[in-house]
Amino acid sequence: MTWSADVLTLYPEMFPGPLGKSLSGKALKKGIWSLNIYDLKEYGLGPHRSVDEKPSGGGPGMVLRADVIDTAINNCFKKDRPLIYFSPKGRPLNQDTIEKFSSTKGVSIICGHFEGIDQRVIDLHDIEEISIGDYILSGGEIATIVFLDSLVRLLPDVLGNNNSKKIETFTDGLLEYPQYTKPNEFKGMKIPDILLSGNHKVIKEWQKNQALSLTKLRRPDLIDKKKDKI
Ligand code: SAH
Repeated sequence: MTWSADVLTLYPEMFPGPLGKSLSGKALKKGIWSLNIYDLKEYGLGPHRSVDEKPSGGGPGMVLRADVIDTAINNCFKKDRPLIYFSPKGRPLNQDTIEKFSSTKGVSIICGHFEGIDQRVIDLHDIEEISIGDYILSGGEIATIVFLDSLVRLLPDVLGNNNSKKIETFTDGLLEYPQYTKPNEFKGMKIPDILLSGNHKVIKEWQKNQALSLTKLRRPDLIDKKKDKI
């Protein structure tokens, strides 16, 4: 069955955007996954199709209304899919989460804007809040594109070489070793001799050590996490 993403947004024209190109775009054309975009404005209230209101209790900006989002969810989304709201308050997104969602039938996503969405609709629908990093975006669309781009490449038959997803950064809890390709010498800099030795055992060992020292240097938190798992 085709993996599907249902997305509710104030900016339908932002999709498929980058998802229509490269790997995810090819997979979309091949029917390996499908993308259904729903316009939140269609569920807005009154002649102006209003979707937001001032925050209760004061404060800056506007909040997306619970009633508007609820009607949109009930009209657009399938009942048997996980519901995601990308939000800086959410659980940080990582490769494990992406893998988990790639083995479902698909997901439904709400793209937030302004100050976000009314808490009651999050509670009512048991929506999972996920953050793509510790910074503030102006809307959930780019977070959705980031999430779907990394998820779609994990779907069966998307990557030409199935091995390439097995040995990447994060897959084994480490950053990837440095990569080189021709020319063997570039502006006086040579590719490490080991990589040209043809000795696969030694090469593998070198790559493992490189991955380990790079991770120790840049992401000691990943080493700690790996230790926790053992
Ligand atoms: N006032 C909110 C931020 C709203 S930003 C707060 O302080 O928590 C507007 C919208 O952009 C959010 O509703 C969310 O959908 C999206 N967004 C912003 N930063 C994000 C992040 N780091 N990860 C995922 N989505 C994010």
